[in-house]
Amino acid sequence: MHIRANKCPHCKAVLTRAVVESIDIDNAVIFADTTYKGVTYACPSCRAVLGVSMDQIALNHDVVQRLLKALGRG
Ligand SMILES: [Zn+2]
Repeated sequence: MHIRANKCPHCKAVLTRAVVESIDIDNAVIFADTTYKGVTYACPSCRAVLGVSMDQIALNHDVVQRLLKALGRG
């Protein structure tokens, strides 16, 4: 059986791009009641969610803000 990794597992459309949308990620495992900014990656044809990840741009921004605050510049 040949499986193409770039096909949507739901509608079988060939994926050449994904639709990114914002989502809140609640972290109940490590830090209770902590929410991070995240993103979902969805199929552009059927909108099925293909994956969820941390929002790296927001995460980088948060790290910079924390560093500036720690250095007394924020
Ligand atoms: Zn699809």
